[in-house]
Amino acid sequence: MVEGRIVKISGPLVIAEGMKEANMFDVVHVGENKLIGEIIEMHGDRASIQVYEETAGLGRGERVVSTGMPLSVELGPGIVTNIYDGIQRPLEKMMEICGSNIQKGIDLPALDRDKKWKFTASVKAGTQVSGGDIVGFVDETEVIRHKIMIPPNMNGTVKELFSGEYTVTDRIGVLETENGEVPLTLMQKWPVRRSRPYREKLPPSEPMVTGQRTIDTLFPIAKGGTACVPGPFGSGKTVVQHQLAKWSNVDLVVYIGCGERGNEMTDVLGEFPEIIDPRSGETLMKRTVLIANTSDMPVAAREASIYTGITIAEYFRDMGYSVAVIADSTSRWAEALREMSGRLEEMPGDEGYPAYLTSRLAQFYERAGDVVCMGSDGRHGSLSAIGAVSPQGGDISEPVSQATLRIVKVFWGLDASLAYRRHFPAVNWLTSYSLYKDRLEEWFKENIDSEWSDVSAEISRILQAESELDEIVKLVGVDALSAEDRLTLETAQSVREDYLQQNAFADTDAYTPLKQQFALARLILSFRDKASEAIKAGADVQKISEIGVRERIGRAKAAPADRFEEEYADIEKQLDAELAALISERSDD
Ligand code: ADP
Ligand code: MG
Repeated sequence: MVEGRIVKISGPLVIAEGMKEANMFDVVHVGENKLIGEIIEMHGDRASIQVYEETAGLGRGERVVSTGMPLSVELGPGIVTNIYDGIQRPLEKMMEICGSNIQKGIDLPALDRDKKWKFTASVKAGTQVSGGDIVGFVDETEVIRHKIMIPPNMNGTVKELFSGEYTVTDRIGVLETENGEVPLTLMQKWPVRRSRPYREKLPPSEPMVTGQRTIDTLFPIAKGGTACVPGPFGSGKTVVQHQLAKWSNVDLVVYIGCGERGNEMTDVLGEFPEIIDPRSGETLMKRTVLIANTSDMPVAAREASIYTGITIAEYFRDMGYSVAVIADSTSRWAEALREMSGRLEEMPGDEGYPAYLTSRLAQFYERAGDVVCMGSDGRHGSLSAIGAVSPQGGDISEPVSQATLRIVKVFWGLDASLAYRRHFPAVNWLTSYSLYKDRLEEWFKENIDSEWSDVSAEISRILQAESELDEIVKLVGVDALSAEDRLTLETAQSVREDYLQQNAFADTDAYTPLKQQFALARLILSFRDKASEAIKAGADVQKISEIGVRERIGRAKAAPADRFEEEYADIEKQLDAELAALISERSDD
């Protein structure tokens, strides 16, 4: 066991001497309270240690002991519905034990050692197995069937395996390997900085359906894809991410609250147990894992929380599930990297961020993907990664935004000005993009409507045309526009207000199924097309803009998902009638 002595303490950074035999990335216990830290740099016998707990009160000369193990997570039944801190300590358990004042160095296992789980074996003795093979399952919650897998680097013959009631560390069976017999347990461990292996990464081919109209229709994310949500304070990043966590059609969500205000986490904790997942009829928590690393917790643990979260997500992807990992905010993590880099006196890069900022961010997002999992059944799983970015003042020319944009494939840029006008979600429709759009076209055409892409493209075109017309209006006024151009502006307003704006807090509006999204978009385009015909037949564009049906189109998004078709058909009828009246009024003149 390597044991050294503290020679310097600088915030979350501790330097220890006498550590020559220790390894980079070993987890160490720092000081008499055994604070948990990780070696992030070695110089001769000096180790630089990033400490994941508050270091106030630590003194020079105190002991530092290496565990000889890298920072790892425990993977097994009991993860789902849990709330962990950055180093996978169960927060609720800790509070039970020490109240809200979390004791330093408290060492609680991530998975309950006493709880028994009902394991059902699915392979018999004598079966040849290799890494990733499923040997049985535990129904962890009403929603998540936890597949018990042979750890990635193992293979051999199952010597014995029994269904029964087990704790995570009990022996459920024995594997005969080249190097002798190995006990099988419900739990395995994995070092967080290393991505879990898979057979093959595939190009994403299915959308992660979010029920958010702006996202699904204009800027969709694929299952296994990557996206970022940059925006200034108050622009709605957290609300967007909560919406994704609530409504996305994935099997499991890992939500990482990274360095943001504590009350946002409290919101999640209050809300998620209340919300019923429409797909399972159970509460959302039954498919959620929360990693809470709020602004009042030690900054170094932000990095750990990111790695802990993505590793847990990978593990469930390995079972063949689609998983989303949502991080709010990656900027807070980057700031922690900057602070640590400064204390290490590294050569600073852009705006003081370390030169390895981009590669760290890339390593995180690269762990996303649609994959063929390990294991001989050829199952698929996907891991989608979505990160909020909070640039000062919303200026995305800063390093974290720029680095992120080079990596991720979807950009939902939030605008302060839209948020100020209370256009939510404040996704800027002119600057945002999705590089999955072409690839997902096939899926939407096959599963929703053959005209999906045309309708989506038309919506974008109208918004684009509006921004060009706005320039002209600024110069010469709206009266100088042709009737058709006036109609384009009216339609664009309808697109913005009746389609893109979506109230996350209104039950009737928070989620729109894809078929309804399509029908609603087409209803608005139908207004445009029919109005255009009416203009040609002599109707007045000003009067068209005032017809009563428009107000009804404005409310159409709130139509119940099981009855929107009749409602929209009825709106079309009213539209026809009102336009016909305008035309005949005209010919009566
Ligand atoms: P950020 O995380 O960017 O600082 P928040 O996500 O906390 O911003 O959003 C700030 C406020 O904006 C919210 O409290 C809410 O009032 C409003 N808001 C954001 N998005 C929506 C939405 N989709 N629907 C309704 N209100 C929203
Ligand atoms: Mg926020």
